[in-house]
Amino acid sequence: MKLELRPRKQIGLVAHDNKKQDLVDWARYNRALLEQHDLYATGTTGALLERELQLPITRLQSGPLGGDLQVGAMIADGTIDFLVFFWDPLEPLPHDPDVKALLRIAVVWNIPVACDRASADFMISSPLMSDGYERQLPDYSAHLTRPLATDGSR
Ligand code: PGA
Repeated sequence: MKLELRPRKQIGLVAHDNKKQDLVDWARYNRALLEQHDLYATGTTGALLERELQLPITRLQSGPLGGDLQVGAMIADGTIDFLVFFWDPLEPLPHDPDVKALLRIAVVWNIPVACDRASADFMISSPLMSDGYERQLPDYSAHLTRPLATDGSR
């Protein structure tokens, strides 16, 4: 199965505290490109980016308060189709399970994810950013139709 991505992408933006400056710098540099898409962000990241870019951003909860999971849910329901997630590789965070969940669900649904500036640079400058794209959806029919022992036999 495939899902058609329109030229105007729905981009999720998340940065951990030690990576926020990196994301702000990257977003400032790429403001003209980002302006062509719809932007979503976790609470604090979104507030910073809105201030720096003067662009409308749909702000979700702060990451540790459920924002990462909201972004994940929006990937699962097909709303967000591109993720820039600058997570901190050097510091354990209270919401590490949520971080892992977000990274996992992005792969489950085969969406592009940039976790550092170099990846984000390569991805935002791809011609596919301003074009349509047929995103392959993995076939989960075997999982969805798996036999379950629901008669108490286990
Ligand atoms: P924040 O959340 O943008 O609200 O800081 C980011 C995160 O820690 O996941």
